[in-house]
Amino acid sequence: MRLNAKQIAAYTGGQFLVDPIDPSALMTGVTWDSREVQPGWLYVALPGERVDGHQFVEAALRAGALGALVTDAPSHACALLAKELGAAIIEVPNTASAITDLARAWRGHLHGRVIGLTGSVGKTTTKNLVRDVCAAYGSVAATKANQNNELGVPRTLLSADPETAVVVVEMGMRGRGQIAELCDFVRPAWGLVTNVGESHIELLGSRENIACAKAELFEALPAGTGRAFVNIADDFTDVMVERARLGERAVAVTGFTGHPDAAAREAAERESAGCDQAVWAEDVALDAEGRPCFTLCARDAADHDEGALFATVERVPCALALTGAHNVDNACAAAAVGYALGLDLATIASTLGASVPEPGRQEVIAARGGFTVINDAYNASPDSMRASLATFAATEVAGRRIAVLGDMGELGSFAEACHKGVGAAAASHPIDRLICVGELAQHIAEGAEAAGMDSARISRAATIADVLEELDVLLEPGDAVLVKASHFMGLTRIVEGLVN
Ligand code: ATP
Ligand code: MG
Repeated sequence: MRLNAKQIAAYTGGQFLVDPIDPSALMTGVTWDSREVQPGWLYVALPGERVDGHQFVEAALRAGALGALVTDAPSHACALLAKELGAAIIEVPNTASAITDLARAWRGHLHGRVIGLTGSVGKTTTKNLVRDVCAAYGSVAATKANQNNELGVPRTLLSADPETAVVVVEMGMRGRGQIAELCDFVRPAWGLVTNVGESHIELLGSRENIACAKAELFEALPAGTGRAFVNIADDFTDVMVERARLGERAVAVTGFTGHPDAAAREAAERESAGCDQAVWAEDVALDAEGRPCFTLCARDAADHDEGALFATVERVPCALALTGAHNVDNACAAAAVGYALGLDLATIASTLGASVPEPGRQEVIAARGGFTVINDAYNASPDSMRASLATFAATEVAGRRIAVLGDMGELGSFAEACHKGVGAAAASHPIDRLICVGELAQHIAEGAEAAGMDSARISRAATIADVLEELDVLLEPGDAVLVKASHFMGLTRIVEGLVN
């Protein structure tokens, strides 16, 4: 961003408690974490649950912040320091909403294409792939890591410059109306929904409701120039496209799927009638490490040819650095964006191949003990658990496959059934040992046993220490351990215990 203290005060309805020495000096970044402050940035004091950001205003100023947004008057010492450094202290009614106010105003300065991205699973992975593909088109700003909430989304917009060619905004959601609220200031030109699964079903009640909540992104697209990217192998694509085009709104649609089976391809053919572009994968295979290779295919609507809806199909080979067949879906989604931008398919395939995973998402780590750890402890939902297990099963392992699975959160009354379902999925794969940690994960053990997995191969653990103790005895060189649960379970501590 490039906003001066006067603009910041005006956009947030703020008042100067300490006047800046130069009201026209531009601030070039924003953060609410004083440790991240860089010279020339704006620091926002948020009232946290455990610590109050107002405690760190001085630290932020010392780190070079040119301004601070606060709700409480600073101490005498802090105000003096600001004066001395020439920095502004601006009082606003609510610092969290001030970030949104700034983003809303800053959005008006952005000339590039803003792409909103949501979905049940694979948002961050797809966002990274889209970011990397778009870098072949022009300058890109994208959500940092997983900052996809009401603070991270405005921050992403504020991280872009007016001339940034593409801004990729990951948007998370838990309930109806949340995506609409974010879109109100993001004003996406294009929107991508990775898929409609079961995450957050507790709050939404059904997958159809989840689809409608995601479709809020498409409803926000501008008529005439908007483009929706939809997963054409999903059950709810029709619902979402219908909503995008409600009231005869002209919204272009690019369909994508990485689903390897023929039925999905057939669906792609059928669905592509509603799409003016389609991107899909053929001949999907996994290498020994579980990395997909496939033929990336795309076709565009033929403008004039009445008989043929689509022009000829383009095909290029593509190999990913990411592991797991589910990433073919994510890659096709990102390829669809590149294709709609007009990039040639070969360039898209090579940028996809160079894109590497985020830590904690199927990150393959060679541990000193001669075994491999697959750190997927960042998060989990029923869909991602199944995808992860399938990837694990498809990976060549010299020794045994050991899966450490923990609780999945936010499933409400569906929790027991969803955990049992994951257990059944585990039983259907060649998993040599299943270790279930946490209260809900006991249903994973039940589900696996019910689906015929030998109970001698299943263990139940109450704590992380129990798991580490068991693994200490169990692990041998050549073994591979998959570690996965929802974030709150803190299973990264198992990964650390195994790797360090
Ligand atoms: P969050 O809700 O935490 O933001 P997300 O939607 O951003 O999650 P990612 O962080 O990209 O999702 O991926 C989370 C996990 O989901 C991955 O580790 C992977 O196992 C799984 N996953 C990713 N993409 C898919 C997909 N297309 N289908 C099924 N599972 C997937
Ligand atoms: Mg994410």
